[in-house]
Amino acid sequence: SREWHIVSRPVGWPKAEDFALVEAEVRQPGEGEVLVRNKYVSVDPYMRGRMSDAKSYVAPFELGKVMQGGAVGEVIASNAEGIEAGDHILHFFGWREYAVVDAKQAVKVDPEAAPLSTYLGVLGMTGLTAYAGLLRTASFKEGDSVFVSGAAGAVGSQVGQIAKLKGASRVIGSAGSDEKVKLLVEEYGFDAAFNYKNGPVSEQLREAAPDGVDVYFDNVGGDHLEAAIGSLNQGGRIAVCGMISVYNSTEPVPGPKNLARLIATRGRIEGFLVSDHYDMQQQFVQEVGPWVRSGELKYRETVVEGIENNLEAFFGVLRGDNIGKMIVKL
Ligand code: NDP
Repeated sequence: SREWHIVSRPVGWPKAEDFALVEAEVRQPGEGEVLVRNKYVSVDPYMRGRMSDAKSYVAPFELGKVMQGGAVGEVIASNAEGIEAGDHILHFFGWREYAVVDAKQAVKVDPEAAPLSTYLGVLGMTGLTAYAGLLRTASFKEGDSVFVSGAAGAVGSQVGQIAKLKGASRVIGSAGSDEKVKLLVEEYGFDAAFNYKNGPVSEQLREAAPDGVDVYFDNVGGDHLEAAIGSLNQGGRIAVCGMISVYNSTEPVPGPKNLARLIATRGRIEGFLVSDHYDMQQQFVQEVGPWVRSGELKYRETVVEGIENNLEAFFGVLRGDNIGKMIVKL
């Protein structure tokens, strides 16, 4: 079985030399364990954080050891009650072809109910991030105008559409290519969108949201956050989901210059972690699942094939090669 190890901690943008694809032996599952053949493996921006050894909310990947991440696979052999060979499970041992998984750390998923890859995306971690961040952290309510950055990505595309389906007065998105911007407006139903590479974010946002924004869902940080504070309405809320624009910076980046505006607007800015909101998973699937099935909520996936391309797929997420959730199919 092949698996990806991290061999040195990247500084700045990660490089291929920081990783190695290694052949490993597959052992039989012990008591309470299952052997799974991974079919879909997730690559996510947060993994960049685990490649550094800075203190964070998850432990760093260990040097010389296999990396981890979300994955869905088929059980080949089971030594655990309630899971049988042929079942499919969602678990956390991605970046490898085969994994031995403690059944307590796995969730059974139904390939008939939804395509397996969606348990990593639109109905999985990134979907719940969008749902919980918008509804709970940003306290979204009908009539709000919503701005989301990273809007053509896995989380962002779902934030905008859920806001629309729940009665937002206006949804604005930003993304890094004209093709993505077109998709936001023409396929996902955003009211306005802009390419942040085409000009200053603050100017483009003011043009797209002349009446300001009530909610900003931040996936990017930096000048996007600064622009959003500048356009924030009275009682506005900012949910800080991610700051991908700074993940590969080696120097501290300048912060928003207009934080004082939060005083006049009584604005609120709050970070959140999806792992604190798994109590919403059932409610999320009950509400969003039917929208996905009916096509009211659209999703794209960018699928890269082969374990040998797992690393390149991860680099692709950092570069913005993906539309929607980036998935590796083994
Ligand atoms: P995406 O599918 O959105 O992929 C990442 C996207 O980020 C790329 O496609 C790229 O699109 C964009 N990007 C890259 N660099 C920059 C930059 N410098 N400025 C602006 N955009 C950039 O990933 P996810 O949906 O999985 O994650 C989105 C965000 O949510 C990330 O910040 C992630 O860390 C965060 N997150 C947080 C969670 C939490 O619990 N708080 C849970 C899950 C995700 P483009 O072409 O538009 O540049």
